[in-house]
Amino acid sequence: KFYGENELRRMYLEFFESKGHLKMNSFSLVPHNDNSLLLINAGMAPLKPYFTGQEIPPRRRVTTCQKCIRTGDIENVGKTARHLTFFEMLGNFSFGDYFKHEAIAWSWEFLTKVLGLEEDRLYPSIYGEDDEAFNIWTKEVGVPAERITRFYRDPETGECDNFWKHGAGPCGPCSEIYYDRGEKYGCGKPDCKVGCDCDRFMEVWNNVFTQFEGDGKGGYTELSQKNIDTGMGLERLAVVMQDVDSVFDIDTMKAIRDRVCELSGKKYEVDAMDDVSIRLITDHIRSSTFMISDGIMPSNEGRGYVLRRIIRRAARHGRMLGIDGIFMAELAKTVINESKDGYPELEEKKDFILKVLAQEEEKFAKTIDQGLAILEDMEKEMIASGSKVLSGDNAFKLYDTYGFPMDLTSEILEEKGFTIDEDGFKKAMEVQRTTARKNRKTTNYMGADATVYDEIDPSVTTEFVGYDKLETASTV
Ligand code: ATP
Ligand code: MG
Ligand code: MG
Ligand code: MG
Repeated sequence: KFYGENELRRMYLEFFESKGHLKMNSFSLVPHNDNSLLLINAGMAPLKPYFTGQEIPPRRRVTTCQKCIRTGDIENVGKTARHLTFFEMLGNFSFGDYFKHEAIAWSWEFLTKVLGLEEDRLYPSIYGEDDEAFNIWTKEVGVPAERITRFYRDPETGECDNFWKHGAGPCGPCSEIYYDRGEKYGCGKPDCKVGCDCDRFMEVWNNVFTQFEGDGKGGYTELSQKNIDTGMGLERLAVVMQDVDSVFDIDTMKAIRDRVCELSGKKYEVDAMDDVSIRLITDHIRSSTFMISDGIMPSNEGRGYVLRRIIRRAARHGRMLGIDGIFMAELAKTVINESKDGYPELEEKKDFILKVLAQEEEKFAKTIDQGLAILEDMEKEMIASGSKVLSGDNAFKLYDTYGFPMDLTSEILEEKGFTIDEDGFKKAMEVQRTTARKNRKTTNYMGADATVYDEIDPSVTTEFVGYDKLETASTV
């Protein structure tokens, strides 16, 4: 039987509805009343007030499939089989209702009974000292003790993989479930096991026992209620169920990947460098499409800048694949088609999404080729002078005049063994900010109009807020 991504989402939500959970729509990627986060990065993030008891949830058991963005994983995208900047997180939550026993038992029931996964491919991990979780896994679920891995705190940093927290807010020890994808995905090292960085033992699900409130600085207080927060990556689950190599091979992602290949005239799995670009674009077009559908507009600050960087990075990789002209809006059509089942708002906002993408890409298209040529000249100068570091002023010129985000310049240089003087860049940016404030109408070097190079002014937000108002806490 074939399990499509959209079907797996439905199966999960239905399973937890059958366990008394209220199914809620995904919240917007834009956090509400939460300054600790730029973008929603986990299913629990929009639910924080329910964990702390600050707000009363519509029900004490809730299940969602939440849109997530993790730019922290951007370096891995296209390189590992399992990391995306945009992914969907399946979750079941208890706000002071059930706790460890039910959460663990139900996650196992879903994976082994509903989906029929082989028990001996599944490996739970627990927080080092959590004997309670250990006993539930061994005595109640019946997993042999030797299949359970305890993760301890790093004595130096105090950090632990199995103590889940993201920014400030509700957090706690957790118990993950790993799936053994088999030796062919392993790194081949003799000590390859659960927790290894390679793609063999893939973390699919995290059960967090949310009982603390973190202040974001290492301080914790016990919450008045014990909660459950779980998160399972839908794309990773699809990898397991469809028995494919990576998240870029599951049904919905493959449709996008194939379209990238069509538009570029490239074949997948012919050239390793091309493959990285193909996968990167496949991921980045999803993030961009979903971010725009939640009302985020490309800009030079905050969320808007995250979006701009992602679009421009994809645009550059499109160039590397030999795509002439703009292509992102065309690709977004495939994203919308593949995901409108779970996110009907994509179809509703289709025209808007395509327009924003086309505009942003056109802006960048006007300058990318010149910028790349200038950067090449700069590289030649560096080689001639024996320097390995691009000056802050030069990096800023590329940013300000040609619209190259610093990390894009840095990625291009990195491929050739160069770096950027980041402090110098920030200084140049600061100088520009001060003059921009004094004199609104900065004309740039190329004499292009100011909209091509948005003014850098953190007090101005170009975010469109109409759509995410519609998104808040809409229950099904
Ligand atoms: P990893 O260790 O693999 O980076 P994580 O421990 O950071 O994952 P959690 O914060 O525990 O992830 O998130 C819960 C689940 O979300 C993970 O078990 C995984 O299935 C999924 N997930 C996390 N990050 C990503 C990502 N970048 N792309 C796709 N799925 C992800
Ligand atoms: Mg991670
Ligand atoms: Mg992990
Ligand atoms: Mg985890």
